[in-house]
Amino acid sequence: LDPSYPTERLSYMLSDAGIEVLLTQQNLLSTLPSHVAQVVCLDTDGGVIESHSQENLVTGVNADNLAYVIYTSGSTGEPKGVQICHSSVVNFLSYMRCFPGVSPEDTFNAVTTISFDIAALELYLPLLVGAKILIVSSEVATDADRLLSELSESRITVMQATPATWQMLLASGWSSHYPLKVLCGGEALSAQLAHQILETGSELWNLYGPTEVTIWSLITHLRVATTENKPSSIGRPIANTQVYILDPQLQPVPIGVAGELHIGGDGLARGYLNRPELTQAKFIPNPFAPDSSARLYKTGDLACYQPDGNIEFLGRIDHQVKIRGFRIELGEIEAVLSNHPHVRQTVAIATTDAAGNQRLVAYVVSEEETLSTQQLREFLQQQLPAYMVPSAFVILDTLPLTPNGKVDRKALPAPDGDIERTQEYIAPHTPNQEIIAHIFATVLGIEKVGIHDNFFELGGHSLLATQLTSRLKQSFTVDIPLRAIFEAPSVEQLERTI
Ligand code: AMP
Repeated sequence: LDPSYPTERLSYMLSDAGIEVLLTQQNLLSTLPSHVAQVVCLDTDGGVIESHSQENLVTGVNADNLAYVIYTSGSTGEPKGVQICHSSVVNFLSYMRCFPGVSPEDTFNAVTTISFDIAALELYLPLLVGAKILIVSSEVATDADRLLSELSESRITVMQATPATWQMLLASGWSSHYPLKVLCGGEALSAQLAHQILETGSELWNLYGPTEVTIWSLITHLRVATTENKPSSIGRPIANTQVYILDPQLQPVPIGVAGELHIGGDGLARGYLNRPELTQAKFIPNPFAPDSSARLYKTGDLACYQPDGNIEFLGRIDHQVKIRGFRIELGEIEAVLSNHPHVRQTVAIATTDAAGNQRLVAYVVSEEETLSTQQLREFLQQQLPAYMVPSAFVILDTLPLTPNGKVDRKALPAPDGDIERTQEYIAPHTPNQEIIAHIFATVLGIEKVGIHDNFFELGGHSLLATQLTSRLKQSFTVDIPLRAIFEAPSVEQLERTI
């Protein structure tokens, strides 16, 4: 559980998973929702833990038992728990210790929140091979300058991150040629980014995989970036993993022809927790396997075979998107937003802004004239993780429709410009307001910030909000939770909060 998630979501996950024992830390207890689990605080219950037997535990746990349940966005409005068994994790880690390969001499930088499955690679692989692991805070992980100093000061040799993080490091001047093994995954790796990473002299691996097939399922070592303007190859399956690119009739497609990527093998999840119908729809019988119990996971990804046998990722066949590496079902945002009493209709999309960054935009039809974007943002923020809260909201009289009556997503108007100033510009007039406005301007890369300007309306998103809290902490020596930025998103409001 990521403690920065809203209480409602944590509460849902605790009860859906039927948690009986909760391992946590004393300082987090007050932020947890009410629950029935027995709490063990790893920091303060040390004495009690030590008083137990020193013998090895006989747990009776075997390879077919669950290692973890990870929740991912669900299109019906609630997250779904993916159940992964020990055998799948062991298969995955056994392969990854050889390719890309980690040795006892390595220092692995762990930057991922534990509520994403890729954190399992960062935590268990170094432990398994006896490498050193350095766990950085989320503030450091999202602040390019601090992350860059960490990389060189701690002589990091391996780091796994999404393309957004690698891009952020390059934008902050990462160019040194010390040997870093770059594990890049979670989202399409553009040819341009691959080229820039290779320029640093690093060893570059592209990793592809859905949570439902245990972290990464296909990998490739990229020695040269493609010259064409298309995403880098996602390579070939890892050990004990089969991939099929199939048409809607489940027939294999020829080389170069797009089809849906299906994955089978040892990495397959048991299914979605408490969701038998969804499990049946996404984990289908494998028509190519002699074993009738064998299954394939329908990834929803479009892909094609390249003539050399490597696989190329082409995009999605549904409304699942990736924003800065986060997997988001647009339907989940829409479902939650529709519960707002003044929202009659809504649709969410991911678009690219002028600076080339992906961002979420929500369109809302409402009869209530006074409905403000700030109200909608606060409403969503109580139920969705920060990365799922759209950065722009557009209120429309009606949604554009296609001739057959579906929402015409392509005809939705772009949000006005990049800066949506809903209040008159008033310059900062106290020393603290000046500091805060200056931090806003630096984080957002804009020149002028007034005291009533809303951080999110100026283009702020969850990752930038983390940078904001980290800089406010440095300037004012106070800890500001991410939540506070959503509750007090203007310079003047934040001054009061501080
Ligand atoms: P998640 O379950 O969060 O790991 O997200 C899985 C989805 O992310 C996949 O189904 C793809 O759509 C996308 N994805 C993951 N890795 C890559 C990659 N290397 N290239 C392109 N898309 C990727």
